[in-house]
Amino acid sequence: MNSLRDKYEVVIGLEVHAQLKTKSKIFAPDGTEFGQEPNTQTCPITLGMPGVLPVLNKECVNMGILLGLALNCTIPERCKFDRKQYFYPDLPKGYQISQYDEPICVNGHIEINGKKIGITRAHLEEDAGKLVHAGADGLAGSTYSLVDLNRAGTPLLEIVSEPDMRSADEARAYMEELRNIVRYLGVCDGNLEEGSMRCDANISIMPKGSKVFGTRAEIKNVNSFSALQRAIEYEVDRQIEIVEEGGEVVQETRLWDDNAKETRSMRGKEDAHDYRYFPEPDLKPLVISREWVEEVRAKMPELPAQKRARYKGLGLSEYDANVIVEQMNLALFFDKVLALGANPKTAVNFIMGEIAAYLKEEKIEINDTKLTPENLAELISLIEKGTISNNIGKQIITEMMQTGKSASKIVEEKGLSQITDEGAIKEIVKKVVEANPDQVTAYRNGKTNLLGFFVGQIMKETKGRANPKTVNELVKGMLDN
Ligand code: ADP
Ligand code: MG
Repeated sequence: MNSLRDKYEVVIGLEVHAQLKTKSKIFAPDGTEFGQEPNTQTCPITLGMPGVLPVLNKECVNMGILLGLALNCTIPERCKFDRKQYFYPDLPKGYQISQYDEPICVNGHIEINGKKIGITRAHLEEDAGKLVHAGADGLAGSTYSLVDLNRAGTPLLEIVSEPDMRSADEARAYMEELRNIVRYLGVCDGNLEEGSMRCDANISIMPKGSKVFGTRAEIKNVNSFSALQRAIEYEVDRQIEIVEEGGEVVQETRLWDDNAKETRSMRGKEDAHDYRYFPEPDLKPLVISREWVEEVRAKMPELPAQKRARYKGLGLSEYDANVIVEQMNLALFFDKVLALGANPKTAVNFIMGEIAAYLKEEKIEINDTKLTPENLAELISLIEKGTISNNIGKQIITEMMQTGKSASKIVEEKGLSQITDEGAIKEIVKKVVEANPDQVTAYRNGKTNLLGFFVGQIMKETKGRANPKTVNELVKGMLDN
């Protein structure tokens, strides 16, 4: 299959639904909190009772504008809402309020490894409820289904990309960056596994060098970044096989089954006219003044790409900058440590070293530890001032994370401050040299790598409290005489 892959170019466009983190629904006052008793967040608007009217939640618009600006979109002066009709038990009204031809955001892009991926549009819409397939054998053999409408009416922003991606890796990178952006903006949890961010992948193939796109299949039910990659790889191979055998790819919606590792046909792809879109008569077109846009823009936090660039400017490696930005809580923690005047490189060494190892080991996040930015900044300043050695710092950071104690407190309790008095170190050097006459002879006969042995012994004597550089110089001076 790999050699066949070389004959084809892969074309991918993603439709991403981001659940907006508002307190109430997009057109109703019900709460949006996850995990409530089924059908408890269901006022008559959510249930689609006759005679009720939707009222637009302004916070959804604010979040839509903010996200649109972060995606370099234009926010038109006017957008409107439309009804998208389809019949399904999780949709009580028989239609979804969405935006069709006048969305809130148009014409944006984000950059992935230096390449611009176009964003056609982003529009506001309401989510549907959930069907719980119950009965005998669960999903496959369920004998009945239950409807939970708590999610119905939850605000979504659907972000539609241009068909600009050319590989599964690129699609994943785009999705990851989008997830970073919504998280830093605080508009969405960005959790694929829990469904607060969902992705439909449109995939087609064409012969290399062709300008005409092939027919696309739309893949739904992709619940993780790795599943997205697997689904694309599978689908590309499936389409190549069809074309190689002289067949034609049909436009359809397919479902990714992450257990079976395959896509299955779900339904023929609807065209827009199947939905009988028409303007929502119960909502006026929404006029967004330029002042409103600027008000939202003024609240724009630093975006992931800007953060990465700033970190690199501080001397962080590309790798370190990426890893820290990828974990928002770590990045926000790091920023607080920097704001307290800590040396960035020392801070990164701790964060990427001992701290990351501990978090990984314990399977927790930085916020789950008792370490405060103030305490890390103080630890770093103790090292910079020479009060403690870097090694001692590494030894006590775990205790700081576990107990919340400050570095100076631990240093005081354990008597760990660095021995800076050269005379005191000299005494210990002398003691160690005298206690090891054989090694001294061997060293003087040319086994100079025994220097490490002496330094090690002295560090042991001082419990790591002597300055290694001073120790080195003193031992060398004494042995070379
Ligand atoms: P719909 O809403 O019916 O799914 P859209 O026109 O909004 O249709 O397109 C959906 C997505 O499909 C967009 O992300 C777009 O980039 C992508 N897309 C369109 N044509 C192709 C193609 N030939 N191959 C891959 N993706 C495509
Ligand atoms: Mg679609």
